[in-house]
Amino acid sequence: PLPVLAVVGRPNVGKSTLVNRIIGRREAVVEDRPGVTRDRVSYEANWNGRRFKIVDTGGWEQDVLGIDASVAAQAEFAIEAADAVVFVVDATVGATDTDEAVVKLLRRAGKPVVLAANKVDGPSGEADAATLWNLGLGEPFPVSSLHGRGTGDLLDAIMEAL
Ligand code: GDP
Ligand code: MG
Repeated sequence: PLPVLAVVGRPNVGKSTLVNRIIGRREAVVEDRPGVTRDRVSYEANWNGRRFKIVDTGGWEQDVLGIDASVAAQAEFAIEAADAVVFVVDATVGATDTDEAVVKLLRRAGKPVVLAANKVDGPSGEADAATLWNLGLGEPFPVSSLHGRGTGDLLDAIMEAL
């Protein structure tokens, strides 16, 4: 079976955009409003000839209302089923309380984590990305999932984690 990579993070940080970038197609649904990916969706991808499965997830919502709780549960299942996790943070916003909560969950799961500092569309965003060292997950990889900036380095790190 192919190694499995889960893409997690709170809503609207650009998880589905990153997944589309990695699979090279626009299959994961991208939306301006949070919480559109309601479930786990799995795709096949490859990087430098190595194949793997990539699982897009809905983001975490901290309010425990109906569907949002189940979205969080799906994300937790995705982590459990994964060999490695890409944790996506919006570098233009910085680490939020929800992000900190996700970090705790990731620590508990004990899976290898690669930290993607997304929405770094240009050099001026690099400093924002660097503040994410504070999450304690190691090096934040600055990427623009929208434009492709930095995604090669991110994928190299992912392949080492998988
Ligand atoms: P998800 O909820 O985490 O799956 O986020 P989406 O992939 O649906 O993206 C949410 C919004 O962020 C959309 O409007 C995307 O176009 C935007 N977005 C995603 N990645 C980037 C990026 O690298 N740079 C910028 N500027 N916007 C992005
Ligand atoms: Mg999504």
